[in-house]
Amino acid sequence: MRYVEEFREAEAVQTWVSAIAQRVTRPWTLMEVCGGQTHSIVRYGLDTLLPEGVTLLHGPGCPVCVTPGAVIDQAIAIAADPQVTICSFGDMLRVPGDHQQSLQQARAAGAQVQIVYSPLDAVAIAAKNRDRQVVFLAVGFETTAPATALAIAQAQQLGLNNFSILLSHVRVAPAMAQLLADPDCRIQAFLAAGHVCTVAGLAEYPAIAQRYRVPIAVTGFEPLDILQGIYTCIDQLESERFEVVNCYGRAVQPGGNPAAQQWVERVFAIADQDWRGLGTIPEGGLQFQPDFEAFDASRHFAVNEAIGSTTTSDCISGLVLQGQKQPCDCPAFGRTCTPETPLGAPMVSSEGACAAYYRYRHSQVTMRA
Ligand code: SF4
Repeated sequence: MRYVEEFREAEAVQTWVSAIAQRVTRPWTLMEVCGGQTHSIVRYGLDTLLPEGVTLLHGPGCPVCVTPGAVIDQAIAIAADPQVTICSFGDMLRVPGDHQQSLQQARAAGAQVQIVYSPLDAVAIAAKNRDRQVVFLAVGFETTAPATALAIAQAQQLGLNNFSILLSHVRVAPAMAQLLADPDCRIQAFLAAGHVCTVAGLAEYPAIAQRYRVPIAVTGFEPLDILQGIYTCIDQLESERFEVVNCYGRAVQPGGNPAAQQWVERVFAIADQDWRGLGTIPEGGLQFQPDFEAFDASRHFAVNEAIGSTTTSDCISGLVLQGQKQPCDCPAFGRTCTPETPLGAPMVSSEGACAAYYRYRHSQVTMRA
């Protein structure tokens, strides 16, 4: 398969691994931001190929994982209204909220909860069912926000007054800055998420790289992409350079996708945002522009009463999302927390770090325990 197989080629992998080994003179700690990168690293064992002392921390770039439990609780509370259909992506249905309930359980109890593959599907459901309120639970990074913006614009064009959005979109660059601002931060370089940059471009990264003196390599998701990014970061660290380098040129333009950015800016404004496990991040999310507030589900439904955390103390997903702990450090990993019985979002999501370790390293972790 073009643009896939050649980026997994064993000989080329070995060439990059050797180049990294030759360049390293001391320990370095890097974080890959995106859950897709984490899955690739764990699946192909890329971290095990690196020289001793080079550590990869797994970052918070799993959109399902960082959606606050309170938002899921709010969606469940809205779904209790028999006149409402809640729509969202499949992974979101199994994630427990702060009250340890999921949308899947709400559906089993009779709520109308529907999986969609795009927010435009939710608009189509609203157009066909004008006697019902249709609420789309909108989560994700810069990659999914343009489709949500388009769906809202389409609903407005169709004159739908039975469609609204429970909004929880997040922005990656402010989260990276917040991690670096922590006095205990161990991150010395970032592998930035290539798919986010296809939309958002690179504009926010140079200021972060300079302020915190961290190289940032924008990478894709195949083994060679990631190894090239690691080499690029280590090369800079070894020579005390702190620049932004686009290692994913086959997909990322420095300016991103201006048309997608324009749709997002038309419908949303940048706002502070709660991230699960990271707290409130300044400018870490989006809110409605005044012209589109009619589509804000939180204005139609009394959602605030659902807020209030009863999160189980067994789940250390906040520390996992900040790169402070690995999934196998969690006492519940593979025991009380499995993909069939997840205690936290990182075990549910296809991009979650705990799910990656369970899928690819469960037997090794169990043997060590
Ligand atoms: S293994 Fe389960 S309980 Fe532990 S951090 Fe991951 S999701 Fe939470």
